[in-house]
Amino acid sequence: MALLEEPIKGIKEVKNYINGEWVDSKGKIVDVVNPATGKVMGKCPISTKAEINAAVEAAKEAFPDWRRTTPLARSRTLFRMKNLLEENFEELSRIQTMEHGKTIDESRGETRRGIENVEVSCGIPTLMQGYYSEDVASGIDEWVIPTPMGVFGIIGPFNFPFMIPLWSAPYAVATGNCIVIKPSSEVPFSQMRLAELAEEAGFPPGVWNVVNGGRTVVDGMLEHKDIVGITFVGSTPIGKDVIYKRCGETGKRVIAQCGAKNFMVIMPDCNVKATVPALMTSFFGNAGQRCLAGANLLIVGEDDKFYNSFMEEVTNMSSRIKMGYGLDESIQMGPVRDKEKRDNIMGYIEIGIKEGARLRLDGRKPKVEGGCPDTCFVGPTIFENVTSDMRIGSEEIFGPVMGVFRAKTLDEAVQICNASPFGNGHAIFTQNGRSARDFQYNVTSGNVGINIGIVAPVALFPFSGMKDSFFGILHTQGQEAVRFFTESKVVIQRWF
Ligand code: NAD
Repeated sequence: MALLEEPIKGIKEVKNYINGEWVDSKGKIVDVVNPATGKVMGKCPISTKAEINAAVEAAKEAFPDWRRTTPLARSRTLFRMKNLLEENFEELSRIQTMEHGKTIDESRGETRRGIENVEVSCGIPTLMQGYYSEDVASGIDEWVIPTPMGVFGIIGPFNFPFMIPLWSAPYAVATGNCIVIKPSSEVPFSQMRLAELAEEAGFPPGVWNVVNGGRTVVDGMLEHKDIVGITFVGSTPIGKDVIYKRCGETGKRVIAQCGAKNFMVIMPDCNVKATVPALMTSFFGNAGQRCLAGANLLIVGEDDKFYNSFMEEVTNMSSRIKMGYGLDESIQMGPVRDKEKRDNIMGYIEIGIKEGARLRLDGRKPKVEGGCPDTCFVGPTIFENVTSDMRIGSEEIFGPVMGVFRAKTLDEAVQICNASPFGNGHAIFTQNGRSARDFQYNVTSGNVGINIGIVAPVALFPFSGMKDSFFGILHTQGQEAVRFFTESKVVIQRWF
């Protein structure tokens, strides 16, 4: 096993980045364990209320000057940041593999997608232009100015430690706001490195802050009168009942991107040779810990011969996935983030057996390469005969578990998809344009795939979501993020 060099050596201490300074927290310190090796790789603070308050205060003070900085000058800072991200691309990717467990190729993909948001936000001088109408009434003109609002909080989940805060952060600062990022305390290193590069790019003190921790920091953001809005990415219970609800109560604007249970719908006319590999990355990439991962495979039609041969291919390819430490470039699937998550997934496998689904591929005793402890590994798992009333068919498992459904017709398949409380990233695999069109028209899903297994919008497009997968109106990324981070000021002018 040839391992790439680890960018974090020994045990690294995570600090907060407040007002342009790296500061120790007075909060409790927790271990961050590399899930592949089982070794402690760092210590992360669970910061206090006073620390989040200090960051918001710094951001508030930095806001007037940053707002007055011209969009072109702000964009130049983002260009410098983009160049620094490219220069440090491989290090940033390896950090993600170390702290999260995903393979190095998955991390490189994450780094690329994160950088793309910085690239798009570099266009802010034109992206945030207003518009003007002459003579809305005789001698009266009217125009709209997109205006930055102040301090925004950005709360990230554990599964994309580098990229997800970048769905929001570059647009927030490009439009002239200041930010406080709270990474998941399970994976704090990517955001620490990102903030170092933001500092090097030249963001003035207070514009870009990072406060590590958990609920106390989130509560501090929600309660703070000087936080004008929050973007959150995480699970539905927290996103809906904590973030969305309390932002409503305190008058903050909010984007809450939440959980998922995505269906991959297979039509008998699909291109099997291309579809099966796409399903492997959809269901088992990132060890199934993607909000856009396939969770349920839904095979359409009553042709048992097609069903059997398709499932044969899927099972064979799934059983050959090589597991181990993602810094070995030959590894195809890493561990899940920690033992609690593994135990939770194992619990769902037990539930599936009790519910009467057929366990076609059992990932409970995975073969792990390179002598890694198996504490956080779960192998690809496939259940057949799954239905929507089963917990394994309806609840988010967030691991490498595929539930296989059948439907007689495409209409029935769409009904099954739409019965799910979630609507994040359903997809169809077909070579028939009419089926594809009917599916995209009728399915209730914020992101829809046609022969695409991971329906992740590029930075130019909003990262959508429907039903319990999203709470809010505007989305992260692209033009919608620019609108979210600005308020429309309308001016009406008449000269006597
Ligand atoms: P999580 O909800 O546990 O945590 C998300 C963030 O909220 C973290 O920063 C965490 O520290 C904080 N948090 C946790 N409990 C809290 C509480 N009681 N009060 C206040 N804050 C709290 O989610 P996670 O496990 O980190 O991430 C996985 C989830 O994120 C999955 O449900 C996945 O589908 C979802 N996700 C959604 C998208 C999307 O775009 N829709 C993208 C990625 C992940």
